[in-house]
Amino acid sequence: METSMIPTFKLIVVGDGGVGKTTFVKRHLTGEFEKKYIATIGAEVHPMKFYTTRGTIQFNVWDTAGQEIHGRLRDGYYIQGQCAIIMFDVTSRITYRNVPDWYRDLSRVCENIPMVLCGNKVDVKDRKVPAKLIKFHRKHNLQYYDMSAKSNYNFEKPFLWLARQLVGDPQLQFAMECVGLLPPVITIDKEKLAQLEKEMAEAQNVTLPDDDDDF
Ligand code: GDP
Ligand code: MG
Repeated sequence: METSMIPTFKLIVVGDGGVGKTTFVKRHLTGEFEKKYIATIGAEVHPMKFYTTRGTIQFNVWDTAGQEIHGRLRDGYYIQGQCAIIMFDVTSRITYRNVPDWYRDLSRVCENIPMVLCGNKVDVKDRKVPAKLIKFHRKHNLQYYDMSAKSNYNFEKPFLWLARQLVGDPQLQFAMECVGLLPPVITIDKEKLAQLEKEMAEAQNVTLPDDDDDF
């Protein structure tokens, strides 16, 4: 008989409609295969296991069925959330401008949970939210990652950062490559990746002015 003692965390994914949340959560194959629909809330829950240097952990990743198009999400979506991903689309400035609203809604129900901000679609050439404009996370103690759900770029980064926070071990590593991802449908060439990482590193080194809130 096997008893399941895997530490499991509710991970809430939010962000404007169209930023790529569903594309992102569907990349993990067993999560997609084992997902459950919660009709009362209109959420899909994708159980994703990760094998770490501290044993297996599981995120139950909550994705909406599209209600964010009409505005706010119900409290039931957020209740007992233990960690979160706020996603925007780097090709759409309005989705970045709305990040504080998602942050506020999350923080109202879930006090002090670890959150990651993700800027998705960095594979697109015509980026509208450059790295140097992305500062929200620095004032609110979130981690930030560029991402491209369609190319798997940085797919595992938010999970790793959240796992380290939740387990309380900053050295925690994933013990294997993220197996069981859909193959990339877009590839980003090496030079472009190097450029993205350079721009991000430079942006993070700039000192924040006290009074700046430019979205
Ligand atoms: P959601 O409303 O946040 O769940 O967004 P969806 O996952 O439905 O994606 C909205 C659109 O963005 C779809 O047409 C996706 O194919 C597209 N999309 C999602 N992720 C990416 C990405 O990483 N790169 C590009 N170029 N398009 C993406
Ligand atoms: Mg969706």
